Amino acid sequence: MADMQNQRYRHYPQFTEEHDALRKTVHDWCVNRLHPHAEAWEAARLFPREIFKEAADLGLLGIRVPEEYGGLGLDWWFTTVWAEELAHCGMAGLGMALLVQSDMATPVIGEIGDDYHKRNFWQPAVQGDAIAALGVTEPDAGSDVASIRTTAVRDGDDFVINGAKTYITNGTRADFITLAVRTGEAGYGGISLVLFPTNTKGYRVTRKLEKIGNHCSDTAEIAFEDCRIPVRNLLGMENMGFYYIMQNFQGERLVGSLSTISAAQRCLDLTVQYCRDRSAFNKPLTGFQTVRHLLVQLEAEIEAGRQLCYRAVQLVEAGDDMAIREISMAKLICGELANRVADRCLQLHGGMGYMAETEVSRIWRDARLITIGGGTSAIMREILTKVQGI
Ligand SMILES: Cc1cc2nc3c(=O)[nH]c(=O)nc-3n(C[C@H](O)[C@H](O)[C@H](O)COP(=O)(O)OP(=O)(O)OC[C@H]3O[C@@H](n4cnc5c(N)ncnc54)[C@H](O)[C@@H]3O)c2cc1C
Repeated sequence: MADMQNQRYRHYPQFTEEHDALRKTVHDWCVNRLHPHAEAWEAARLFPREIFKEAADLGLLGIRVPEEYGGLGLDWWFTTVWAEELAHCGMAGLGMALLVQSDMATPVIGEIGDDYHKRNFWQPAVQGDAIAALGVTEPDAGSDVASIRTTAVRDGDDFVINGAKTYITNGTRADFITLAVRTGEAGYGGISLVLFPTNTKGYRVTRKLEKIGNHCSDTAEIAFEDCRIPVRNLLGMENMGFYYIMQNFQGERLVGSLSTISAAQRCLDLTVQYCRDRSAFNKPLTGFQTVRHLLVQLEAEIEAGRQLCYRAVQLVEAGDDMAIREISMAKLICGELANRVADRCLQLHGGMGYMAETEVSRIWRDARLITIGGGTSAIMREILTKVQGI
């Protein structure tokens, strides 16, 4: 199976034997170790904490992190392989939780953190000894990041933090949060990023949220009441947080798009097999031209989405760390497409598609998040209208 998987990607010139080797490692781990537990961990609404450590031991939580901080020191094409192969664990929630750790909550520490931040927060996350979360969204501020209200007020060598965040992935068990706080004036010019240890007095998980999909990942509402953290936990420059968040979002959206398009591919592959095996009117479903045409149409569209992601990775690798146009397009196109693919594939499974035990029904539920989390489709269109000057 892993070799077949490598065959699929072999005709893309950017992938070398080293990428193939990583692909096989991640693929085998997902299929053999994780996938058999998908139903149980979805039902339990949580996967075991030890999975973070297992991923770290395989090097997967620090693919682009320099070796001196425990990482593999590799490039974005290896991250691409990581994000793509995670789809094979059969539960998007687990992939999301691990990608939050490796590519959403922590890269900003590498970008703008000092050695203290890197040794005390980044390295433990890379090594799977600490769980990380990203705390931006608030009950009254989601798409409009500039209106966050959680405050951090200086008092001597401390910040005193008050406020609340919501929809925080890994939120019930995070050891630290890369947290967006208001340190200055209203609007985008008064936001900072701090590293917040969750064992701080006054911090509380106020609610574990029940979702319609991504069940095995925990999502929380959290609150801060007079929480004191040292000013040295400030990341980068005070009141520059909005820019750091926007930059960090680019990597988040790119890994999100890559894992999304890969999940769509898995959904389609499962459906092609189902249509070969399932018969109606004395022939397999693939014997009907309308079915065959739909399957290849979806294959072509997934390939187009994947190429958009690869173009964005290529630009990032070439030094355009924002690649705003291509990453926004990738998130928009892959998110919308993944929902359509999952919907059509579910339909092709007939009644079986409506059963909770069928993997495509889980992919369908999980895919619904993609056009919302990490920036909605409308926000991607907003960004693109600005980039295109329309
Ligand atoms: C399962 C899950 C996990 C998440 N994990 C995290 C996490 O780990 N950390 C974190 O900080 N956040 C997280 N989020 C939050 C997520 O990023 C936000 O939900 C998202 O950015 C949208 O914000 P909102 O929910 O406040 O929606 P709103 O901003 O209230 O938007 C509501 C609707 O209005 C539309 N809209 C808003 N502005 C415009 C506009 N200018 N033009 C047109 N339409 C507009 C939106 O597209 C949307 O359809 C998570 C969310 C979910 C559901």
